[in-house]
Amino acid sequence: MAEEPQKDYLTGFSLRDTLYLFLKELIADAKLNKGHFSILLIDIDHFKKYNDKFGHLFGDEILEYVADTFPLFFPKNNCFRYGGDEFVIVLTDKDPREAFYLALQLRHNMAERPFLLEGKSYNSFKITFSCGIAGFPSDGQTVAELLKKSDEAMYFSKRHGRDLITIASKMKYIRFRNMLLLFVSICVIFTALSTLYLFPLRKPIHRIIRNIRGIRITAEQTGLDIIILKNGDVLKGEILEETEHKLILKMHLTGGVGSLVLQKSEIAEIKYSPGK
Ligand code: GH3
Ligand code: MG
Repeated sequence: MAEEPQKDYLTGFSLRDTLYLFLKELIADAKLNKGHFSILLIDIDHFKKYNDKFGHLFGDEILEYVADTFPLFFPKNNCFRYGGDEFVIVLTDKDPREAFYLALQLRHNMAERPFLLEGKSYNSFKITFSCGIAGFPSDGQTVAELLKKSDEAMYFSKRHGRDLITIASKMKYIRFRNMLLLFVSICVIFTALSTLYLFPLRKPIHRIIRNIRGIRITAEQTGLDIIILKNGDVLKGEILEETEHKLILKMHLTGGVGSLVLQKSEIAEIKYSPGK
C-alpha cells in the first residue's frame, strides 16, 4: 500500500518532498498538453522578531494564522510548507500576471484580517510577507529552475523593502527603471544644488575675472584710465570730467575720438592712469 505523504503538523500542508513530486508531474503534464502554471514562494517578513520577542509558541500561532489565509484563495492541496516560515503555492493554469493578482488579494486579506490569539485581537501586528513568482514555461522548464527563479524574485522583494510581490521576469525591468529613476534624481539634485550654490558665487567669480582683465590692461602701461563696468566690460580712455554721479570718458575709437558719459552706478571700479 502506498504511504500517505507526510503533512506539516502546524499548517496541515504537504512538505517539500511532496512539492517536488507535484511539480515534476505538473511539468510533465504541461509539456504534453502545452499548458502553463505559476508558483508563489512566500516568506514571512521579520518572523524571527516575533519568535525572539514573544516566544516560539507565539511564532507558531503566526505561522498558523498565515497558513489559514491560503485556502481562502487556493486549494489546500496546492499549498506547501517549504521550510521554516517559507511556503510555496502552486497555481495551475495561471500565468505569472494572474498569479500576481491573486497574491495581491492574499496580501490585502492579511492586512485587513486581525491576528487573533486565544480570542484576543492583535490589531497592532502587521504580519506581512515577501513573495516571488515564477511561471512555467516562461521562467523555467524544471522544478529546480522554477524554484530558483521564484527564490530570486522573493529575495528581490526582501531587498526592496519587504511586503512586496515580485514577478521573476519583471526583475530586469524594475532594475532598469530604478537605475533610470536614480539617474534622473541625481541630475535633479545636481541641478538644484548648482543653482542654489553657484548662483551666489557668480558675483565673486565675475569680480575675479574682471580684476584679471583689469590687471592685464593696466600691465600694458597704456597711460589711460581704466573703467570696469558692473557687467564686466572694461573701457580704456581719459577721464575728462568726474562728478558725484557721472563720469565723461574720452575714448580713442577706430573712427576717431569719442566721449562717453557713464553713470557711476554702472561702474564697478576705476583704475586711474599711473600719472593721476
Ligand atoms: P526576513 O524578513 O528576512 O525573512 O526575516 P526573518 O526574521 O523572517 O528571517 P528568516 O525568514 O530567515 O527567519 C526564519 C525563522 O523562522 C528562523 C527560525 O527560527 C524560525 N522558524 C522556523 N521554523 C519555525 C517553526 O516551526 N516555528 C517557529 N515559531 N519558528 C520557526
Ligand atoms: Mg522570513
